[in-house]
Amino acid sequence: MAYRVTLIPGDGTGPELAAAARRVLEATGVQFEWDVQEAGADVMGKYGTPLPDAVLDSIRANKVALKGPITTPVGTGFRSVNVAIRKALDLYANLRPARAMAGIPNCHAGVDLVVVRENTECLYAGIEHDVIPGEAAESIRIITRRATERIVRFAFDYARANGRHKVTAVHKANILKATDGLFLRVAREVAERYPDIAFEDRIVDNMCMQLVQRPREYDVLVCPNLYGDIVSDLCSGLVGGLGVAPGANIGAEMAVFEPVHGSAPKYAGQNRVNPCAIILSGALMLRYLGEVEAAARVEAAVAAVIAEGRAVTYDLKPTRDDPGAVGTQEMADAIIAALK
Ligand code: NAD
Repeated sequence: MAYRVTLIPGDGTGPELAAAARRVLEATGVQFEWDVQEAGADVMGKYGTPLPDAVLDSIRANKVALKGPITTPVGTGFRSVNVAIRKALDLYANLRPARAMAGIPNCHAGVDLVVVRENTECLYAGIEHDVIPGEAAESIRIITRRATERIVRFAFDYARANGRHKVTAVHKANILKATDGLFLRVAREVAERYPDIAFEDRIVDNMCMQLVQRPREYDVLVCPNLYGDIVSDLCSGLVGGLGVAPGANIGAEMAVFEPVHGSAPKYAGQNRVNPCAIILSGALMLRYLGEVEAAARVEAAVAAVIAEGRAVTYDLKPTRDDPGAVGTQEMADAIIAALK
């Protein structure tokens, strides 16, 4: 039986990355029927929106999607398509693992972190306006008991199901006493229901310092939306950068898998960027589909190619202009060869 999966190539470097991931996933022998859907800056002219209804309808029907990155104009223009997809489908948990692999330059060996980021509220609720245009603007930050409870439960359930031993709640409750105060109170309440998993909390600024100095002391981090976004990029930096950082947006009924990184537009169409983040996102998708053995093979093949250090993209070479760096598709070819 083939899995029907929505495939959103995205824009910028997204289409070339999605093509690479598709080839690797097909090479596992798992059968897919791809429902390809266009979204992003490139389709604005054609559909009048960067997120046509057909995209959300397709994900609702198929329940699972693999997505390339999509550009969001900075400071002006249309709102983030990525945030819109997560909110429209109530994909409340953003799972971002950061695991060290042998062969990556500047990688902190032994790091094995998972960031669980709340995906639907906080400053990403999109409630902001000019108070005095050009002079003052205001954003409203929403934190609710309901959303906090379910994201913290998700973090503990994930920890339990995956043999993890500790959950750390990340907050700024010393300053943001109402919003982060509520987040921390609810996190503590939920933690009491999981006596088998250790629980602690860290103020976000201290958390960042601790992650740089002692990343191996941490395990699963649960964060409100904005801190989770920032801390997960920090964690990916600890293990080799955005080129190897996968992600999943998970709801009660469906899930969208996508790399942590953005569309890296300056490299678009150059066959240059690292396909591992989207390929590893594909492995997370295989696990979600129950194809655990195929997922493990993809992860092992990626690890083997990186450890060998030969057929890897520029970001995994000791210097960015290393003449031995290969392109996106050539690295995917090496991963496919390592699968066999
Ligand atoms: P980015 O992640 O696109 O790129 C930052 C830098 O990281 C790049 O210049 C590159 O050096 C490196 N990088 C990223 N992906 C890489 C890869 N696969 N291989 C090697 N190196 C890689 O972040 P940005 O420049 O801040 O954002 C660009 C656009 O992407 C923005 O419009 C932003 O809103 C959007 N964005 C989208 C998503 C998403 O689709 N979920 C996530 C983050 C940012």
